[in-house]
Amino acid sequence: MGAKITMSFRRAATVIVAAMSCSPAPRAEEVPTPPEKPAIHGSDPDCRERLSALGVVLNERARIPPPSQPACAVSEPVAITAIMGLPGNPRVVLAGTPVLACAMAERFAQFVLDVADPASRQVLGAGITSIDAGPGYVCRSRNNQPGAKLSSHAQGLAVDLMSVTMEGGKTISLAAPAQSEQRDVIAHITARACAHFNTVLGIGSDAFHGNNIHIDLEPRGRDGNTKFCR
Ligand SMILES: [Zn+2]
Repeated sequence: MGAKITMSFRRAATVIVAAMSCSPAPRAEEVPTPPEKPAIHGSDPDCRERLSALGVVLNERARIPPPSQPACAVSEPVAITAIMGLPGNPRVVLAGTPVLACAMAERFAQFVLDVADPASRQVLGAGITSIDAGPGYVCRSRNNQPGAKLSSHAQGLAVDLMSVTMEGGKTISLAAPAQSEQRDVIAHITARACAHFNTVLGIGSDAFHGNNIHIDLEPRGRDGNTKFCR
């Protein structure tokens, strides 16, 4: 069921991207919202199956580093090496093999396939072949500040996007794009990320995010659905 919903969502996104091919930049209102609310905590036995349907390639031998404090816990951890996406698409390699909670891995793969890669193809004329998304899981406080709340990274619910490599081999630093079109794509994926994740901290959003876009699925607010995107 989950895979079926995901595939129809992906097909819709493909049609939308094709329909947008005459406009200079992707339009916000045409981007579909993510289909399902993921299980952040607790058991989700179908999650790996959904990852497989999305073409997510896992390193099954990867081990989670032992936590430096008991509160660090990743629900159904997976280590992602690549996202294959639709048949015929080149694979998007995850350079750091990030370790993520399965629900975050699923949402991140959807984001790459439905937002980041299509935006890159449309505006820059080349798909994404590799993303430096950091390690994902790290048992640490927010922004590594002593005494601060535990980071969403400590539950495997966050990634930090630092650079992407395109077909043809060009690598774009998200903090220092060389062209205005590259800046447009980065601004687009930062804005669209808010529909997929609960927190999005773009480049320059605060003193700790000068060189990366932090995105996470940690529930926020009383209802767990509050967004914080800037
Ligand atoms: Zn982060």
